[in-house]
Amino acid sequence: KKLRVGLLFGGRSGEHEVSIVSASAIAKAILTNGNAQKYELLPFYIQKDGIWQGVEVSQQVLDSKQPLQTSADSDSLKANLWQFPPQVTEVDIWFPILHGPNGEDGTLQGLLSLMQVPFVGTGVLGSAVGMDKIAMKMAFSQAGLPQVKYMAISRSQVWSNPCVFPKLGDEIEANLGYPCFVKPANLGSSVGISKVRSRQELEVALDNAASYDRRIIVEAGVKAREVECAVLGNDYPQASVVGEITYNSDFYDYETKYTEGKADLFIPAKLSPEITAKVQEMAIQAFQAVDAAGLARVDFFYVEATGEVLINEINTLPGFTSTSMYPQLWAASGVPFAELVDRLIQAALERFQK
Ligand code: ADP
Ligand code: MG
Ligand code: MG
Repeated sequence: KKLRVGLLFGGRSGEHEVSIVSASAIAKAILTNGNAQKYELLPFYIQKDGIWQGVEVSQQVLDSKQPLQTSADSDSLKANLWQFPPQVTEVDIWFPILHGPNGEDGTLQGLLSLMQVPFVGTGVLGSAVGMDKIAMKMAFSQAGLPQVKYMAISRSQVWSNPCVFPKLGDEIEANLGYPCFVKPANLGSSVGISKVRSRQELEVALDNAASYDRRIIVEAGVKAREVECAVLGNDYPQASVVGEITYNSDFYDYETKYTEGKADLFIPAKLSPEITAKVQEMAIQAFQAVDAAGLARVDFFYVEATGEVLINEINTLPGFTSTSMYPQLWAASGVPFAELVDRLIQAALERFQK
């Protein structure tokens, strides 16, 4: 009997559209020759308002690659809460491919755990730690992974009355200097991130980051090449070849990430065998440090001037379109897209076996 794979996509985050494109690529892979003999596809689209669609409408969204328009009010979600489409009970294994908050951060993984059905990828703990840049950096630091200097700040400090800003600004300048990066702790796709070079910019950036998240991180800026490594597996994870991202903008911001032609991927990255091995080793350490499972993309800063490799972040549900870094890194490592999807499903089954 075929295994019924519940492909979950869309969701309540800024990466809704990317998720649809990732899911379309995975759906296609599940329906290719080798996989179609083993798996049956049951797609479930989560609208921007959080409501789940059944298999028929979800398939239409996959085909059109266009989000459904919703009224985006929280009342409609409340009215429909826990009203899952009936086909949900037929799923043997979930394949969530939602990026960012409400998909990659452990909330959805908690729901799937409650359902007691195996799912692809990292569980609650690793997803939550991987999403929160402050918790993530604490875990990396405990694992001895080198990273940039940073400060954890709360919204209440930024928006405090009386204002603590002058002192906070002094501290940031003394500890980190300029340029520094101000980020909401729990987002992705560079949303809410600013590169700042002055006290005035710092003030604006903190206020902006505080509008996205109660938790804010400020990091010392480094001048470095950006290299990424894909990890696959559970207790004995494997690292892919290393890739590099290049672009002409100030940093790898939202526009650079999602505008065709603004960034280039180089696979494999032009790095010495020593640096490549270092990146791969650190990628696996990072994967284990946050308790990731199945898949993750680990991103680094390679400071060529000093030869230092600093870890930047882990993404537990990385972009998975046919041109995304994660599947491309595996393709270059000898695991083509359809086989990668098969290996991820098998890894999930293995992980949930007692
Ligand atoms: P996201 O999770 O949204 O991708 P990142 O922490 O990876 O957020 O930051 C996005 C981009 O901002 C990075 O790819 C890099 O270009 C730039 N950046 C972030 N932090 C730093 C830093 N400390 N030094 C230099 N560049 C940085
Ligand atoms: Mg990220
Ligand atoms: Mg990033």
